[in-house]
Amino acid sequence: MAKTENAIWVVAQLENGETLGVTYELLGQARRLADTVGQNTAVVLIARENNGHAEKLIAQGADVVYTVLGEEYADYNVELYTNAICELAQEYKPNGIMFGATIDGRDLAPRVAARLKTGLCADCTEVEMGENGLLKWTRPALGGNLMGTIVCSDIRPQMGSVRPKIFAPMEPDSGRQGEVINYTVKNKVESKVEILKKEPLSTGGKLKIEDAEVICAGGRGFGDGERFKVLEDLAALFEKSAIAGSRAAVDEKWVDHASQVGQSGKTVAPKLYFACAVSGALQHVSGMKESEVIVAINKDENAPIFEVAHYGLVGDVHVVIPKLIEKIKAYKE
Ligand code: FAD
Repeated sequence: MAKTENAIWVVAQLENGETLGVTYELLGQARRLADTVGQNTAVVLIARENNGHAEKLIAQGADVVYTVLGEEYADYNVELYTNAICELAQEYKPNGIMFGATIDGRDLAPRVAARLKTGLCADCTEVEMGENGLLKWTRPALGGNLMGTIVCSDIRPQMGSVRPKIFAPMEPDSGRQGEVINYTVKNKVESKVEILKKEPLSTGGKLKIEDAEVICAGGRGFGDGERFKVLEDLAALFEKSAIAGSRAAVDEKWVDHASQVGQSGKTVAPKLYFACAVSGALQHVSGMKESEVIVAINKDENAPIFEVAHYGLVGDVHVVIPKLIEKIKAYKE
């Protein structure tokens, strides 16, 4: 089989000239899935210039990288990107296409699916390989109360968007061989979109939780928003840190929805996750259980959060956190 046929594709996403981590995460999973049925993986890279991206993608699992390059692709543009991906898909006929369920990916994927007259399973939390190359896309359904697994049995390509931080990327192997196909779009379209100004999404000047290496998350047990702020003092002790909350904390408006961890929030996997006065409901745990080290602080020794915690402190957050801050400060001095 030619490398370009019937492959599992990942659409690369770039920000400020860098390939986003979600691209490598999806590529890692695409590689694992493709290997189970002897298929290939390909990445669609749309950018101003290659700048070494294609080679890095090959080192991390791509058999083929289709590059669509040019000044007009310097910024994400839904019309130009949709046009390029659809033309490539019609020519090279992938088995499946994965997009990161980021803001741009959630915008782009449904347009591509509609144009290709196929389905899209959006915002997945799992993708597996079934029989005969049939992808099984799993996502929360009915308001998150159950998980639904969806297959697109008759139409190709099978398409889905997948949340960041679900899959592990492959270790880079600079010796991996792959093919770079520099593709020129044949039927060019004029964009109706003109970018007048670019402003980063506001996170209050703070790091986004998905980019943080240390997350200090709080739950309803804090009792009020003023006392919740002690998490800022805890986070300030670490570089690349951010504050997050359970849905209860978000409902109380102690923290923004953009910083909600869990099934109806974000999935995170930082190096260190503090779960403070968070009970450990399934819907919360599903968004943080892959964290490298989990420290839970809860006054109820039977709280389910202790089942996923690597370190548990049974006690009142209003007493334990100030003491913890003191100890960490003393240790750093
Ligand atoms: P609680 O469950 O009320 O727990 C508070 C905890 O704090 C308790 O364990 C208590 O022992 C402890 N505590 C109280 N006082 C103190 C103190 N002084 N010191 C130490 N510990 C103390 N939840 C999410 O978090 N994220 C989601 O994305 C999400 N999505 C959902 C989607 C659906 C469809 C549904 C139905 C629910 C979802 N939930 C989600 C809600 C989830 O089921 C829980 O209700 C929620 O996680 C509870 O938040 P909590 O742990 O902060 O509060």
